[in-house]
Amino acid sequence: MNSEIKHLKPLKETLGPKGWIEDKEVIEPYLEEERGLFRGESSLLLRPQNTEEVSKILKICNEYNIKVVPQGGRTGLCGGTIPSENGQEVMVSLERMNNIKEFNEDNFTITVEAGCILNNIQNIVDEKKFLFPLSLASEGSCTIGGNLSTNAGGINVLRYGMARDLVLGIEVVLANGEVWNNLTSLRKDNRGYDLKQLFIGSEGTLGIITSAVLKLFPAPRHIETALFAIPNTDAAIELFGLARNASADLLNAYELVSRIGMEMVIKHVPGAKEPIKDKYKWYILIEFSSSSKSNLRKQIEDLFELALSKNIVLDGVIAESSQQRKELWVLRDGLNEAQKPEGGSIKHDISVPINNVSKFIDSASKCVEKFIPQSRVVVFGHIGDGNIHFNISQPLKQDKKEFLSKWTDVNKLVFDIVKNLDGSFSAEHGIGKLKKEELKTYNPEIEINLMKSIKSTFDPKNILNPGKVL
Ligand SMILES: Cc1cc2nc3c(=O)[nH]c(=O)nc-3n(C[C@H](O)[C@H](O)[C@H](O)COP(=O)(O)OP(=O)(O)OC[C@H]3O[C@@H](n4cnc5c(N)ncnc54)[C@H](O)[C@@H]3O)c2cc1C
Repeated sequence: MNSEIKHLKPLKETLGPKGWIEDKEVIEPYLEEERGLFRGESSLLLRPQNTEEVSKILKICNEYNIKVVPQGGRTGLCGGTIPSENGQEVMVSLERMNNIKEFNEDNFTITVEAGCILNNIQNIVDEKKFLFPLSLASEGSCTIGGNLSTNAGGINVLRYGMARDLVLGIEVVLANGEVWNNLTSLRKDNRGYDLKQLFIGSEGTLGIITSAVLKLFPAPRHIETALFAIPNTDAAIELFGLARNASADLLNAYELVSRIGMEMVIKHVPGAKEPIKDKYKWYILIEFSSSSKSNLRKQIEDLFELALSKNIVLDGVIAESSQQRKELWVLRDGLNEAQKPEGGSIKHDISVPINNVSKFIDSASKCVEKFIPQSRVVVFGHIGDGNIHFNISQPLKQDKKEFLSKWTDVNKLVFDIVKNLDGSFSAEHGIGKLKKEELKTYNPEIEINLMKSIKSTFDPKNILNPGKVL
């Protein structure tokens, strides 16, 4: 395989022996996406240790027309890090570029290299009593470069925005090897187009992000967490408005959990237990936080009373300790894990305007249950962002393969409903290889054409992550 990719010699010479790996066993995990949906071939993994080396790699690849697949923590779920099957692409992992370059308390910023693991950044910042609010279940292994390239979301979007809202500057290596150093910490800067935003969310197709200046916030010192049982998803929307007002907009999480999902978590995830004596069809996990001493406890208790009096909350529990808070979060965070032992699962990560969430859940559930009788619709997610994980677990007695063969048909049913409700078929996880067809089908032609012209301007030889997104 190795000899089949031409011109590898200059790449190896540039990086030195520590900068590349050809050992098949070591390379193996870099070839397959974690869910096993995608697998590619490549005989060479490059591991640059600084921006200069990334620049040299891209100069050589551009010159010899070698295709490049950037990789971070490889937790992406759309096949974005997987090389093609022809074995002609090289993988460039940023994992060795994991230095913290600067912590600037006055600016409320931290400057980091792209290979830093998200959780490490959170911990470093936390030690200094700051907060970097990007938080997702994969934070123990995803990298900030991957987070920016996929414009990651997670549990704090409601209060702090998505990855693109948390960045002030980036450094990128362009397809021809040129380095664009835009490591600015300016909060106001109107000098022309905001070019960094083109790279954020472009999934490695326009450039390789090597460093970033991230926004920090005061660490929350006071947190109140509750789980409320609600009668239906309409109530979730009404409660959302009440909660924002009751907390003076200090609401930082508002997550929907369905009974069926909660039962799977209680069954399969260690530490998960029934939160309230009685059982209900829907729950909302709600969290208020503040960086100063505040009235949050009273605010969340008042919200509970008010919502009970309006019958939009039926029951609930407010965490009395950090242990109890953790136990409530397990019921939400364990949902992905808990679906695995239940067999095949067809997953969607969609968003609709908040006022359409209830309509979406209702129509999509009915439609899917009619199409696959006995299927188990597991709805959960960041309902405060209008972002729903609409997952379908296979009927208990059906063959997994047969169930998963309906994935494309189910997508069409679900995404047509999303489109009619002015939503997006990809709220968080990006396009990669997985949703290219949907991008063509559901996005207006003018948008696709604009994206293509941006791609050809930034990467005329199409060497950066070919076959992804477009
Ligand atoms: C359990 C679990 C939970 C998750 N939860 C969420 C969630 O709540 N919200 C969410 O948004 N996502 C979530 N994800 C998806 C995933 O974790 C995110 O997309 C994450 O941001 C990817 O980071 P990574 O370092 O693993 O990137 P990778 O998977 O390595 O790469 C992702 C894409 O970015 C490109 N890329 C990586 N690094 C660079 C770079 N330095 N420069 C240019 N391109 C690059 C790759 O080519 C690829 O296209 C979850 C995944 C898992 C497994």
